[in-house]
Amino acid sequence: MNILFASTVEPADRWLPLLREALPQDDLVLDAGNAVDIALVASPPPGTLEKLKGAKLIQSLWMGVERLLADPALPRDVPLSRLVDPGMVAAMSETVLAHVLDWHRRLYRYRAQKQEGKWHRFRQYMASDHTVGILGLGELGTDAAKKLRVLGFNVIGWSRRQKSIEGIESSTDLSFVLQKSDIIVCLLPLTEQTKGILNLANLRKIKKGGGLINVARGPHIVVPDLLAALDSGHLAHAWLDVFDKEPLPAESPLWKHPGVSITPHAAALTEPRTAVARIAENVERVRRGETPHHLVDFEAGY
Ligand code: NAP
Repeated sequence: MNILFASTVEPADRWLPLLREALPQDDLVLDAGNAVDIALVASPPPGTLEKLKGAKLIQSLWMGVERLLADPALPRDVPLSRLVDPGMVAAMSETVLAHVLDWHRRLYRYRAQKQEGKWHRFRQYMASDHTVGILGLGELGTDAAKKLRVLGFNVIGWSRRQKSIEGIESSTDLSFVLQKSDIIVCLLPLTEQTKGILNLANLRKIKKGGGLINVARGPHIVVPDLLAALDSGHLAHAWLDVFDKEPLPAESPLWKHPGVSITPHAAALTEPRTAVARIAENVERVRRGETPHHLVDFEAGY
């Protein structure tokens, strides 16, 4: 089969040797000139999607697909798969655990105290004193939830459909989840329904003194509302990895706000060493005429 690798972001020199090794019988190409059977895409060069009308599969190299779905050139009759990469899932859980522990152990406050040369010890809590609310109990949310549970935190998750995960409370009622949570982790896909979901009314439902970790997409948060929740003292701190505009513009008030920690959309990157086996599995499914894994539901938007 002709397999196109099309990305303006992912480094071809890291991916191609691994893909060639995993798919020795296929032709891996870098331009969509010839008929393409399967396209591996992540922010593809302009003009690529238009050429994929006859493809059997468009395989994203990323877990979030909202930008592809918003592109009018995406052929709607070609199946689109998300990449569920074990390396990326593990990386995301590491980031979530790091931020939850930063809050739980008050490390962010000790870093601020150091700037003032201040020695003050805060009260200690046990993990079981705290409830972590996870918005989105999908591939990423479920893995993070299970690992937080191992550390002893109470974990409650919000999803569209009711979930049953051992040790994790699950609800489809957003207000219920927010009200029970000391800290919220956003791991939702960006859709019409989830855009702006972290607005003032919802942020105020999180327990006072709590935190917010957004490792999903920038537009989930209404930034002025978050700043209001931090300035009023309702929220203690926010850990933000994703923003409406990336890189975050220099004039953004988030840069200088003492209640905000910033990372440059680095919570979890695709890891070609673990992702290639998943891609090869989907290629083989297409070859055998089977349905590929992790197909995007165009209706639901994720
Ligand atoms: P996923 O497996 O599709 O899971 C999404 C979860 O969100 C599901 O539990 C889903 O509910 C829930 N959900 C969706 N819409 C909802 C709604 N309207 N109300 C309630 N729950 C809703 O997605 P994933 O693989 O975990 O990835 C989540 C997002 O993380 C991606 O879309 C991407 O934007 C982001 N991400 C960020 C980074 C980073 O570096 N910052 C890296 C990778 C991914 P159901 O289970 O009922 O369907």
